[in-house]
Amino acid sequence: MKSFEELELIPGLRRAVAEEKYEIPTPIQAQTIPAALEGRDILGCAQTGTGKTAAFALPILDLLGGDKQKAVPNQPQALVLAPTRELAIQIGASFETYGKYLGLRHVLVYGGVKQGNQVRALNRGAHVLVATPGRLLDLMNQGYIDLSHLEVFVLDEADRMMDMGFLPDLKRIIQKLPSDRQSLFFSATLPPKIVELAQRLLTNPVSVNVTPKSSSVKRIEQRVLYVDRNTKQSMLRQILSADDVERAIVFTKTKRGANVVVTKLVKSGINAAAIHGNKSQNARQRALEDFREKKIQVLVATDVAARGIDIDGVTHVINYDLPIEPEAYVHRIGRTGRAGAEGIALSFCTTAELGDLRAIEKLIGHKIPVVGGQAPPEVQPHETETTSEPRSRQRGGPPRGRSGGFASAGRSRSSQEALLPTNKPKRRRSRPKGPKVPRANQPAKQTS
Ligand code: AMP
Repeated sequence: MKSFEELELIPGLRRAVAEEKYEIPTPIQAQTIPAALEGRDILGCAQTGTGKTAAFALPILDLLGGDKQKAVPNQPQALVLAPTRELAIQIGASFETYGKYLGLRHVLVYGGVKQGNQVRALNRGAHVLVATPGRLLDLMNQGYIDLSHLEVFVLDEADRMMDMGFLPDLKRIIQKLPSDRQSLFFSATLPPKIVELAQRLLTNPVSVNVTPKSSSVKRIEQRVLYVDRNTKQSMLRQILSADDVERAIVFTKTKRGANVVVTKLVKSGINAAAIHGNKSQNARQRALEDFREKKIQVLVATDVAARGIDIDGVTHVINYDLPIEPEAYVHRIGRTGRAGAEGIALSFCTTAELGDLRAIEKLIGHKIPVVGGQAPPEVQPHETETTSEPRSRQRGGPPRGRSGGFASAGRSRSSQEALLPTNKPKRRRSRPKGPKVPRANQPAKQTS
């Protein structure tokens, strides 16, 4: 694989990359950067954590930094579209880092804040505009942004943009792009609708695929832990108390679920915050910053918040609830094991979630090893009925009779006892011991 030296980037860019201690381009960078430097369009199938931001930022900075044109008010030369404010901010930070010796200006444009500062920054002129679709359109319609001189257009996380309902906005923006431009298109997955959009945007693109459709990242050690629904919270607390869990992201199915998990963790002395769609932009950003700065150990998120999270050093991803969409599993676990680091992804699975687990395994093409070698229980027809159990019974202590929980699923208790809390009254322990979760700093095992 080529080194960054061999990519022949302009000196200021090479210096910034060296200061970041990047030595070898990641696969997406090695395949994308040379073609993008030649002016080719790119169709990149890659998720966050692969180094895709530098894969598009470096060629743009190389082009604009080499040109040394003055920034023209309201007429950016490059536009990067991202689905969320969090991702836009991260991309902006990357342009700042890589471009620090180039004297280029970039402006961020996203919703949820007053537009005044953004408008003033646009008026001063920016070489690169990083934007979310809604606010971009809004400012375009008000005449603050003119895309007619655009040289490079980047669409990042196209699939997520579609999921979030941005397609109509996207189409309106695309109409305003000059036809003579370079386009770089990135998406974690390539369902037919995305391919159709890519075809409309790209001309004779170089296709780069670093995460073959739906394969999960190899340096992430994945495990399943069969649990009873009522024991999820105590199990989570035990796992998070283990020494090697430095920074964890916990995924829940619902926003309400995320809030409940956070409240209980905080009560038990674990620093946690929630990040989901019902939180204000500011609250989400604050939670992310606190997590990045290690002020909080645990971020509890729903899927919508998941893919914008770009934080190194996430040692564990815990699926408190399995996602209903198997694709979301791949995105979730991609929050750990970033840029070649190792990570643990642990998924809780109840009887009611067995179907979701099987769908995920089908998608990723392999079985996920089970902690302690527990055997999955037979799902009895009436066991699944526990999902519609009256609330009082769901909440109340140990399941009575046939609860549908794993502890009563008719298997030998021996393997469970090592892993699952029993319903006996608990003795106080100074440090709760979690189930044996593999350590993030041990060599990751290939799970496929
Ligand atoms: P991204 O996929 O763009 O979100 O990047 C994920 C992480 O990888 C970021 O924290 C980058 O700083 C880091 N990164 C990107 N390229 C490289 C590289 N060539 N070597 C080491 N780390 C990198």
